[in-house]
Amino acid sequence: MAASEMEAWARAGTAVEAACELAGQAALVTGASRGIGRAVALALAAGGAGVVVTYLRQRERAEAVAEEIRRAGGEAEVLQLDVRDAAACEAAVAATVQRFGRIDILVNNAGTALEKLLVDTTLDDWNDLVAVHLTGMYACTRAALPHMVARRYGRVITISSIWGISGAAGEVAYSAVKAGQNGFTRALAQEVGAFGITVNAVAPGAIDTEMNMFLQGDDLADWLRRVPVGRLGTPEEVAGLVRYLAGPGAGFITGQVISPNGGAVV
Ligand code: NAP
Repeated sequence: MAASEMEAWARAGTAVEAACELAGQAALVTGASRGIGRAVALALAAGGAGVVVTYLRQRERAEAVAEEIRRAGGEAEVLQLDVRDAAACEAAVAATVQRFGRIDILVNNAGTALEKLLVDTTLDDWNDLVAVHLTGMYACTRAALPHMVARRYGRVITISSIWGISGAAGEVAYSAVKAGQNGFTRALAQEVGAFGITVNAVAPGAIDTEMNMFLQGDDLADWLRRVPVGRLGTPEEVAGLVRYLAGPGAGFITGQVISPNGGAVV
């Protein structure tokens, strides 16, 4: 390898850091009081972004996330947000812009699971999942886009799921809304790419959060037999990918559904 090429690779090390640099930016992370959202909020803040940490019910845990960010020298605000309420989503984006003067990064993370056969899934169950995963994503993203278009820069990242790619028995409604998030991502990327805005979905396999507390004993062993790395993922492993996608170096990655899943065979 020529010396100049080696020098270029050495410089690339610095470039990787620059690619994830978020200083001066502002992020809104829905459902950041715990689990994947919490790890994402911390990762973005570690990159230098100011972060709005939202929660549905667990205010104390959201405050703890914000406090952790502030202790490390970062900036964070806490906000109650039910993403099923489109007007509240608009208000959350407005609050982010009011606090930080901008919104560069939106992470649509808030979510709930539903373990039911379709025949047992009521219309209320169905409507609730649609409201959380689809209406919330739609409303937050729609409110954030004009601010991103005005600055000719933005990152929209939605935490969908491996089930949105493969589907899962016993989780048909959840699989459907997660597939909807993936479709939204691919289509919106085409609408807004010319404005410097990227739109991606991160579709994790099973991650070790409270959402997966039901996954124990034989069920857990059955699942892990399908995962070559032989374990659940960590929220931090998802957050590292989100942080990269949120950075200025990921400007050529858009319309993608990327699945950190330990090689799960589904
Ligand atoms: P989690 O630990 O159960 O945390 C859920 C978060 O969402 C909490 O912050 C919760 O707030 C918030 N939330 C729930 N309903 C909400 C609503 N209606 N409006 C606003 N916020 C709401 O979940 P997680 O495992 O981190 O999952 C995060 C995302 O990743 C979800 O979209 C999930 O579908 C997706 N995902 C998870 C896995 C996994 O294996 N864990 C795999 C694939 C995809 P409170 O704390 O206040 O209740």
